[in-house]
Amino acid sequence: MTQHVSGPSFDIVVIGGGVVGVASAHALAAQGAGVCIVDQAAAPARGASFANGGQLSYAYTDALAAPALLAKLPGLALGLDPVFRLVPGFDPGLYPWLASFLRNMTGARFARNTLDILHLALESQAALHRLLARHPIAFGHHAPGKMHLYYSDAVLKAAAATVAIKQRHGAKQDILSADAAIAIEPALAQVAGLAGVVHSPADEVGDARRFSEGLLEVCGREWGVTARFGFAVAKLDRESDRWRISAADGQTLEARRIVLCAGAQSRAIARRLGLSLPIQPMKGYSFTAPRGFLAPQVSITDTARKVVFCALDGRMRVAGLAELGNGSTAVVPARARLLRDLAEQAMPGAAAYDRIDGDWAGLRPMTPDSRPIIHWIEPGLGLNLGHGMLGWTLAMGSAARLVRTMPPL
Ligand SMILES: Cc1cc2nc3c(=O)[nH]c(=O)nc-3n(C[C@H](O)[C@H](O)[C@H](O)COP(=O)(O)OP(=O)(O)OC[C@H]3O[C@@H](n4cnc5c(N)ncnc54)[C@H](O)[C@@H]3O)c2cc1C
Repeated sequence: MTQHVSGPSFDIVVIGGGVVGVASAHALAAQGAGVCIVDQAAAPARGASFANGGQLSYAYTDALAAPALLAKLPGLALGLDPVFRLVPGFDPGLYPWLASFLRNMTGARFARNTLDILHLALESQAALHRLLARHPIAFGHHAPGKMHLYYSDAVLKAAAATVAIKQRHGAKQDILSADAAIAIEPALAQVAGLAGVVHSPADEVGDARRFSEGLLEVCGREWGVTARFGFAVAKLDRESDRWRISAADGQTLEARRIVLCAGAQSRAIARRLGLSLPIQPMKGYSFTAPRGFLAPQVSITDTARKVVFCALDGRMRVAGLAELGNGSTAVVPARARLLRDLAEQAMPGAAAYDRIDGDWAGLRPMTPDSRPIIHWIEPGLGLNLGHGMLGWTLAMGSAARLVRTMPPL
């Protein structure tokens, strides 16, 4: 006779130990729940949260599906834009996702989505500051502000309209002339043809991996949260009001509730539960290098080349490229080289481009409207996923919302 041996039991198992999963575990445990995080990787934040752009972009929350993108769609479809590419694989889910993405490109939807994300971002900023007041986690956190660089008056004017809407909803953001921007960030003197910038003076930066590691340590010490790494969720079974969570290697855990925070992989896991989630991976690259001879202190996004520069712990983190539909994290040397070339063209003195630490690629878990999915399908099943380009920024506020909307345990 076979006997079912049950594994350790928890109130809640959080699937995914990226920055969103760790922040969720923290918020749930602080409510008194017994929480375990499981992740297939060997340590926290080894997915998209590992070496992202480092931006805590509390004011620049613009949704990807924007009216301005409409004009670029033919280039995207034909593969003419080397920076933003569509990489259709064999996933039939890509096409309904794209249809929904297109529907979100109207001015009204863009404004709604951008403002929704702004409100969540501001909630995140307040939640992060509350956390750090209690637990001074070291993750290179500082607030140098952020500038988005624009090279044409017409494009800057369009950006100014979005800034005006966001300002009315609490965003600290202004338009500056090139001269005014250089007065704040002298390293911009190396940028050719600058028309002006969108300045977000209260935006912050930090290393999402170090934050996740630090917060997980706080979770264990303060709230008794446990973590199982090397636990690749392969099966989720429901028996009356309990879940059995089985790993590929046969380990099992039990829980009253599960919360799915598996980033770009969430869709595959949800499919096993009969759920169809509108998530597509959007692959991006980053590298970290010593500071160059004219490195900015303020975070910089070059909007023409879609490259982000971030001063992190005395080094320069550079991130960019967008490959929609590409679910592989393999570093393709030609793409990594392209990011380096774009960065060097935009700001030749920002980094020591000949001495980079190594290239990295990760998957942004994109929804068609850029808004994350924070939702309890039913009391036993929560979702906190789909944070796209801004998961580091939104993690703390998303965790707070997950808890606020949680049915009583
Ligand atoms: C190049 C790049 C630059 C970026 N820059 C920024 C930025 O500057 N600012 C910003 O706010 N955001 C940025 N982002 C976005 C941000 O990194 C992501 O939105 C965020 O990291 C998502 O966090 P997550 O916890 O949801 O996902 P992840 O960090 O990917 O975590 C998901 C976890 O789930 C685990 N998992 C998956 N499947 C299973 C399974 N079957 N069993 C167990 N575990 C599983 C994975 O191992 C992983 O650890 C960037 C992303 C990229 C790629």
